[in-house]
Amino acid sequence: MIESRTIPIPAGVDAGTEIPITTVRGSRPGPTLSLVAGNHGYEYPPILALQRIRTNLASEQLAGTVIMVHVANMPSFLGRTVYFSPVDGKNLNRAYPGRSDGTVCDRIAHAITTEVIEPCDYLLDLHCGDGNESLRPYVYQTVTGKPGLDDAIARLVLAFGIDHIVVDRGRPTDPARSVYCSNTAITRGKPAVTIESGYLGNTDEESVTRIVNGILGVMREIGMIAVGPLPLERPVYLDPVEVLTSPATGLLYPHVERDQKVTQGTPIARITDFFGRVTHVVNAPFDGVVLYVVATPPIVKGQPVGCIGKPR
Ligand SMILES: [Zn+2]
Repeated sequence: MIESRTIPIPAGVDAGTEIPITTVRGSRPGPTLSLVAGNHGYEYPPILALQRIRTNLASEQLAGTVIMVHVANMPSFLGRTVYFSPVDGKNLNRAYPGRSDGTVCDRIAHAITTEVIEPCDYLLDLHCGDGNESLRPYVYQTVTGKPGLDDAIARLVLAFGIDHIVVDRGRPTDPARSVYCSNTAITRGKPAVTIESGYLGNTDEESVTRIVNGILGVMREIGMIAVGPLPLERPVYLDPVEVLTSPATGLLYPHVERDQKVTQGTPIARITDFFGRVTHVVNAPFDGVVLYVVATPPIVKGQPVGCIGKPR
C-alpha cells in the first residue's frame, strides 16, 4: 500500500508550511526505514532520488515499511536558499529534535521527529553539497561508543556503497538536544547515516543514481528487498576530518577542486575584501583529500570554506 500526504505545519510565531511524505507498506512484515530529503532545500539529487523511489517501489516486493520525506524544508526549497530558511534564518539540520511552539524550522523538525524518526528502525538523511559547495560523495559514520549501535551504523554505511567514509565522533548524546536529523535517530537508539552525493545545485544523473542505488543497497542489507546492490568492499575511512572556516567576510576564490589530493599547507581558497584585496589564504591543515570546497564568491566570517579528510 502506498499512501502520499502532506503533514501540515500550521502558522505560529511565523508562517506555516507543509511537508510532503509517502509511506509504502510492504506485503510482508519487516523493519521501518525512513528516508529524509531536503533538510537543505537547495540540495536537489536527494529530492530527485526520492521522486524515483516513490515511483518505482512496489509494495508487493517489499518487507516492512518505507517512510519518505520528499522535501523537509519547503520554504528553503521554494525560496531557493542555501543553508538557511528564508522564513526564520535557521539551518533546519541544526534545529532537531525541534519544538511545536518555535519558529518554522523548529516546528518542521518537531513534526519530522515525531512522525518520521520516532516510528522508524533505521534512517538515512540524504544531502549533497549545498548550492555553493563543490563536493565529492561521502557519508558520515557516527561513532557513539555503543558497540551494537555502532556496528549497525557501520553496516548501513557499507550497504549504501559510497566509498569515502567520514569517521564522525563527538555528536551530541542528549536526545533532547540532538541538533542533527540523523543524530535524532541515533540518540533514540536507531542506526542512521547522513549521505552526501551531489554539488553546486546540480541535478546530474550520476549523483541521483548513486543515492537511488545506495537506498536499494540498504534495503537489501536489512532484508526489505530480495535483490539489490551489494555492500562496499574497499572503504576509505577518513580520520581526522576538518571543516575549514573563513576568517573574514568578503569574496572567496577556490584554489582546489573537489576530490583533489592536497598536502599540508596547500592553499584551499583565498579571501578578498570587497575591493579585491587579498585578506587571507586558507590552507590545508594536513595531507588529505578535498571533500568539498566552496566554489561561489560570497563568504561570511565563520562559515565553511571547505572540508579536508585524511585517509587512514
Ligand atoms: Zn545538507
